[in-house]
Amino acid sequence: MKKLTSLAVLCGIFVATPAMAQQSIDSMLDREIAQLVSTYKMLHAAPELSHHEEKTAAFVASQLRALGYTVTERVGKYAEPDWTSYGVVAVMKNGGGPTVLVRTELDALPVEEKTGLPYASTVKAKNDAGQEVSVMHACGHDIHLTSFLGTAKMLAALKDQWHGTLIMIGQPAEETVNGARAMLADGLYTRFPKPDFALALHDSPDVEAGKVTYYPGYAMASATSVDLVIRGLGGHGARPEATKDPVVLASQIVLALQTIVSREKSPLEPAVITVGSIHGGTKRNIIPDEVILQLTIRTYKEEVRQQILASIERIAKGLALAAGVPEDRAPILKVIESENSPATYNDPELSERIAAAIGRTVGKDNVIKAQPLMVSEDFGYFSLDHKIPAFMFWLGAVEPARVEAARKSGKPLPSLHSSLFEPLPEPTLRTGIKAMTTAVLELMKK
Ligand SMILES: [Zn+2]
Ligand SMILES: [Zn+2]
Repeated sequence: MKKLTSLAVLCGIFVATPAMAQQSIDSMLDREIAQLVSTYKMLHAAPELSHHEEKTAAFVASQLRALGYTVTERVGKYAEPDWTSYGVVAVMKNGGGPTVLVRTELDALPVEEKTGLPYASTVKAKNDAGQEVSVMHACGHDIHLTSFLGTAKMLAALKDQWHGTLIMIGQPAEETVNGARAMLADGLYTRFPKPDFALALHDSPDVEAGKVTYYPGYAMASATSVDLVIRGLGGHGARPEATKDPVVLASQIVLALQTIVSREKSPLEPAVITVGSIHGGTKRNIIPDEVILQLTIRTYKEEVRQQILASIERIAKGLALAAGVPEDRAPILKVIESENSPATYNDPELSERIAAAIGRTVGKDNVIKAQPLMVSEDFGYFSLDHKIPAFMFWLGAVEPARVEAARKSGKPLPSLHSSLFEPLPEPTLRTGIKAMTTAVLELMKK
């Protein structure tokens, strides 16, 4: 930094240029990367489940405090009054200018790691139900955490090149999609400055480390969890005429629901209806009283989501009526609000602006427009229903040779949430920090 400044003065340049910022980021990364990789390995070996991110949050808070941020811990209010939210909010005010929010997740998953890496997790912990489970950063939130800390460090050091208010947040409980909501419910945008832009990254399990991919517009779907209780009238398995069999009815409903996507909505509006669980009955010769279907619905647009919910109810009730089920035993549709998350909408103008800036830093060829996905995330909450321009990009996290081998063999790479998911730390973190630091500087540069 010092060297660069004196060089700039010698050359008669008195304002910081993007090229200078880039040189500074590169030289700082060269100095910091070994430490960041060991931070990553430490976080990877110590994952914590959603709603239990106590140590991870305390570590993030102490790191940010040491960098000069004003840090508030335990931000967040869950619907369950006795749960603690481990949300971290770190603010750095640097004169007038835009307010930019950068988010990382803090939580890991109940997965038993099978990568065989020397720093693999062997952690076991109690889940919300009190059962002991293995825990792993199988979604790569440890990559996000380390990129976030690296970015926070770069931006603190490059304070002379940006102005405005930077808000770095550590969000708990992304995997259970209630952490973002908990933070907003606890005054994230009233107790702290409300952002003009919100940014995040997510590692990608099938893109080479060193690359960034993105999609402007709807990039990830909304997720809606639904339970459908199919009620009948139970009885002896050998006397169907004396019953209204909910197993047969549920079977018809499962098939009929698939016609919603194929026949009832425009083929140009993506949607998925998956019945992921079907439970009913106790014994071969008993017709049960009810069968419970558990569904997930994915859409981009809210009106499509509403249309699908109405269709599910209509089809379930109509088929029950056709089967002769009395009206007071009609199917019940329950939307599990606590498990829902909105679509991730990348503001198109912001996406292209940031993608171009990242391209200038990591190489234009390394920034690629990808396809949107029907998986979901709770980052969308931070945009307050598209009112705050938001952008989440994908960070390639896999060793290039493995991506190439998978392409040739046709054998898919381990996905996110897989016990074998294995990001390549060094190039991934380097690119993640460069990309996110560049994104923030693009929005806040002097
Ligand atoms: Zn995940
Ligand atoms: Zn994730």
